[in-house]
Amino acid sequence: MADKPIYLDNSSTTRTDPRVVEKMLPYFTEEFGNASSITHEFGRAAGAAVDQARQDVASLLGCEPKSLVFTSGATESNNLALLGAMRAATNGKHLIINAAEHKAIIDPAKRLEAEGFEVTVLPVDKYGRVKAADVKTAIREDTALVSVMHGNNEVGTINPIAEISELCRQAEVLFHTDATQTVGKVPINLSKLNVDLLSCSAHKMYGPKGIGALFVRRGLPRVRIEPLVEGGGHERKMRSGTLPVQQIVGLGEACRLCKLDMQQESERITLLREHLRHGLANSIDGIQFNGHPSERLPGSLHLSVPGANAEAVMMQLRTRLAISSGSACTMSSPQPSHVLQAISLDPSYLSKSLRFGIGRFNTEAEILEAVKLTTASVQLSRDLSGYSSNNS
Ligand code: PMP
Repeated sequence: MADKPIYLDNSSTTRTDPRVVEKMLPYFTEEFGNASSITHEFGRAAGAAVDQARQDVASLLGCEPKSLVFTSGATESNNLALLGAMRAATNGKHLIINAAEHKAIIDPAKRLEAEGFEVTVLPVDKYGRVKAADVKTAIREDTALVSVMHGNNEVGTINPIAEISELCRQAEVLFHTDATQTVGKVPINLSKLNVDLLSCSAHKMYGPKGIGALFVRRGLPRVRIEPLVEGGGHERKMRSGTLPVQQIVGLGEACRLCKLDMQQESERITLLREHLRHGLANSIDGIQFNGHPSERLPGSLHLSVPGANAEAVMMQLRTRLAISSGSACTMSSPQPSHVLQAISLDPSYLSKSLRFGIGRFNTEAEILEAVKLTTASVQLSRDLSGYSSNNS
């Protein structure tokens, strides 16, 4: 079989760690029980595996196992957080989000607007960061929920969620964060944060696709969530449906492995990112890096290259290098990225931007090769478009 291209699109999805796959396998075969069938051994074994996984996810997040609701992924977690919390709110109909959120926040917010809720969309700065002061100003008497993502999936910027969640708590407003890009990569300790709701997804942290979780803080004041899916009252009545035991086991193991090695792994990946950044900066003139220079995800690098068409570069590289121009979740839309527009990127750069996502399985040799391949492809695209650094 021909060699696969070098995979540098880990913000979109990650390869499932073989140790995770190994752990999941028995739950397709011998241990196939329904975790709710507690009258027999098959069900009990499945239930015990779900309990263990719940503990492993909770241990990574620093929360109580019982505060986790398993979902099909972060899209569902975000929908459940926004639609569920707003529809159940008794203190108001106002929601605050921001312009750089994932579509899995923006679209449910639009749905809420159509249902008669009011939504404020805050701006972000040139790095894609939300200012805590803007959140404070936007909070009203009738604000029920604020949602600010932890790490941005396109430009990699990390938001100051400790500060924002603290001011939400003081204002007695619920705070949700979409932490899909940060869980497993950046330390998060929910026992020390005033976060009420948090979304995550296994496939961004070397677990399987189709499984995620929503953290719903327990205790007082109570966080009320109206379910989106009703049926058997699973997951504290917030998400009915037979639990996908093998997926949950995969999520749990992915979390356990991330926790074991997080610091070392994030240092190694940050180093690779810096090598990539320096390599590209030294070989491509006029290159611009987007997102926050230091408050950023370890493996994420986003850049714009004047004179080079991103689609052409990706197409030319596609058999050797897998990168993207932005979020895979908005690929169905031909519109320019809403995140790049939100950071007020020079409009001429909207079609000249590339996203690299470095992950657990990447090596230094791959990074060196990626620099060479990208540089050559950018040069070719520039030659074809008649670009010279003087006309940038
Ligand atoms: N939020 C963010 C920030 C993401 O990056 C993604 C995945 N691109 C999602 C939500 C959606 O996650 P899932 O694929 O698990 O539905």
